[in-house]
Amino acid sequence: MGKGFVYLVGAGPGDPGLVTVRAREVLGRADAVVYDNLVHPRVLDWAPAGAERVPMGKIGHVHQHSQEEINQALVDRARAGKVVVRLKGGDPAVFGRLGEEATALTRAGIPFEVVPGVTSASAAAVYAGFPLTHRDHAPSVTLVTGHRRRDGGTGPEIDWQALARASGTVVIYMGIRQLGDVARRLVEGGKDPATPTAVVERATWPGQRVVTGTLGDIADRAREAGVKAPALVIVGGVVGLRARCEWLGNKPLFGKRVLVTRAAHQAGELSGLLRERGAEPVELPLIELRPCGHTSGIEAALRKLFAYDWVILSSANAVRFLFERLEALGLDARAFGAARVCAVGPRTAEALAGRGIRADVVPGRYVAEALVEALAAHAELRGASVLVPRAREARDVIPNELTRMGARVEVLPIYENVKPATHPAEGLQALKEGRLDLVTLASSSAARNYADLCRDLGVPADRIPCAVIGPATERTARTLGLPVAVVPAEYTLRGLVAAAEEYFLALGG
Ligand code: SAH
Repeated sequence: MGKGFVYLVGAGPGDPGLVTVRAREVLGRADAVVYDNLVHPRVLDWAPAGAERVPMGKIGHVHQHSQEEINQALVDRARAGKVVVRLKGGDPAVFGRLGEEATALTRAGIPFEVVPGVTSASAAAVYAGFPLTHRDHAPSVTLVTGHRRRDGGTGPEIDWQALARASGTVVIYMGIRQLGDVARRLVEGGKDPATPTAVVERATWPGQRVVTGTLGDIADRAREAGVKAPALVIVGGVVGLRARCEWLGNKPLFGKRVLVTRAAHQAGELSGLLRERGAEPVELPLIELRPCGHTSGIEAALRKLFAYDWVILSSANAVRFLFERLEALGLDARAFGAARVCAVGPRTAEALAGRGIRADVVPGRYVAEALVEALAAHAELRGASVLVPRAREARDVIPNELTRMGARVEVLPIYENVKPATHPAEGLQALKEGRLDLVTLASSSAARNYADLCRDLGVPADRIPCAVIGPATERTARTLGLPVAVVPAEYTLRGLVAAAEEYFLALGG
C-alpha cells in the first residue's frame, strides 16, 4: 500500500463560511475529492486546481451511485496512493453513511480521519432564527429520518409514539415527501397538533425559505409553498421563539440578488461585502484585464525605471501588471532604484507594500489636483521625469496636470480592458430572466460592456436599476441609457454597498 489516505469530511449545510478550518486544510492537499450534491461548488475551489473531482451522491431523489460503488471509489484511489477527501453535506456522522464508509476503509486496511461538520439541523434552526433547545421549552432534541428504507434492511424502526410523547424538539431529516405521514404519526402518538412547526428549505443557501405553522397544518402549508428537498422539519415550542431570535431577515440587503460585473479575479471582494449584508451576489464578469502586447517601449522604460524621478501607480492592477512585466524581464523591486513612488489610494499602496515597496506619497483623494499637490509638496515638479504605468483606457487628467506643472511625463500602457470571451452560465441566466434587483458597475468599461451584453441578449437594460461606483461611471451609464439608481457618496466598493442599502431602505425593503 502507498501513502493513500482518506478524509471523511463534513462540508456543512451549504454556506461555504460554515466549513471547518480543518476541512479546508485537508481539501488543500487533496489529490481527489469525492463529493455529494449537497456540497456548495465554492467549497470545491479549495482543492488544488489539479485535483480530481468526482461527483458521487444523489441527484434529486435518485441515487446515482450505490454505497458499494462509492466505497470502492474511495478504496481504489487510496490504494493508488492518493489523498482522498470524501466531502459530505452537513456532518458525515448524521445520516451521512459514515458508518458504512469507515467500515469499508477499515476492512480494506486504509488509514482515514473523520472531520465533523455543522449538521443541517443546527444550521437550519439558527438561520431560521430559533434555538434547538431552551430551558423553558425543550430539554432535549431528537434527530430522526423521515425516509423509510426500501432496501429491505433490518435496522430498528422509529418509535413515533415515544417520539410524540417526548417533551423536546424533533428534527426530521429527509422528511419532505412524507411530511403528511410523519406529522400524522406524531399527532396519532399524542403530540399536540398545535405544536409550532417549521420547514426550512435550503438552509444557509441563497434563497433559503422558512415555512412555519403547526404540526397539524404544516404539511398543507409546505405543499402550498412548493417546498422541495433539501429541507428539514423542526417540531417544538422553540419554533415559536423565532419572533424574538430571527436575525438573517434583518440584514439590510436580505433577499436581494445583485449582479457583480467586476473582472473575475476582483469580483470576490464586492461579492463578500454584499453577502455580509445579506444579499445574494451573482457574478457575471464584464471586463477582463490583460497585459498589453510586448513592446520595446515597455521593456526600455522598465529597464531604466530607476532613472525616473517619479513612478506613479494609480491602481492595484497597475502594480500587479507592472510587477508581472518586471518578473518576465528577470527584474524585481530593485529595478525602482531610488525613483520616488506615488501610490494613488491606500489599496495601491498596499499592493506596492506586498511587493516590498513603500510608497513615498499616498494622496488620500482620488483627484488629479490632490495628487499634484502631494507631489509638489515633496519635490520640485518642474523638469522632473515621471513615468505613469497604467491601463490603456485610463483618462489623461493626471498626466495633463503634471505636464502643466512642467514635469516630463511618460504614459506607459501596460494592461488593457477587454470584453470577456465567455460568461458563466448562472450569471447569464439571471440576467436573461431578469431575476435581479440591482446591477453594480464599478467602471465605465463595465457599463459599456453591460449595455452591449443586454443588447446582444435582447434583454431590456432599462428595467434593472444600476449602482455605479462614481461620477465618471455614472456619466457613461447615463449616456448609454442605463437607469442609474445608486451613486455612492464615497467612491469605493464599501461606499457603493452602503448606498445600495440606503436605496433599498428608501424603497421600503
Ligand atoms: N449529513 C447531512 C444530512 C444528510 S441527509 C447533515 O448532517 O446535515 C439529507 C437531508 O439533510 C436532506 O433531505 C435534508 O433533510 C437535510 N439537509 C441537508 N442540507 C440541508 C439544508 N441546507 N437545508 C435543509 N435541510 C438540509
